[in-house]
Amino acid sequence: MIDLRDYVREIADFPKPGIRFKDITPLIGNGPAFRATIDRMSALVSEAELASGQKIELIASPEARGFIFGPPLAAHLGVGFVPIRKPNKLPAARTSVSYALEYGTDTVEMHTDGVDPGQRVLLVDDVLATGGTMAACRELVEQLGGTVVGCLFLMELTFLEGRGRLDGTPIYTILEE
Ligand code: AMP
Repeated sequence: MIDLRDYVREIADFPKPGIRFKDITPLIGNGPAFRATIDRMSALVSEAELASGQKIELIASPEARGFIFGPPLAAHLGVGFVPIRKPNKLPAARTSVSYALEYGTDTVEMHTDGVDPGQRVLLVDDVLATGGTMAACRELVEQLGGTVVGCLFLMELTFLEGRGRLDGTPIYTILEE
């Protein structure tokens, strides 16, 4: 069995001093490791569906690294994918949520027709750090009347306690640190 941990490289002091950046490029650069990741994510989706008793209808992910894992998982499951983007990138009518960073604010956007009211959405990203990005993504889906049935990550940095920002939503992760 492949240990996915072996394919996540830690880069010290990137992008700023004090940050230990989890670099997933070795993982996606290795075919068997990438496939094993999508297979394990898919197994977690089955778990989420069993726990909620409901099928997932859509996957939504924030750019940039969410776009690496969300679309192959959606294709594997045969469900649609909705991109969540930085401001002014999406061409059609869109909705926005801004959230606080350590310094300043950030904004995420989604097309208003990306999610229909009542649709069951799974949010997917590579790393759960402080949870600020995912909390904003959850708010976007909820603004459009969608239901977030869970948040799925390759890796959770537990010491940052991002789960607290996602209170009330089940969290699924393959690796923890
Ligand atoms: P968060 O603090 O949870 O809002 O993290 C925001 C985004 O930054 C996530 O989409 C992660 O991809 C990325 N990120 C945050 N911290 C790290 C880290 N230590 N290594 C790699 N990516 C990170």
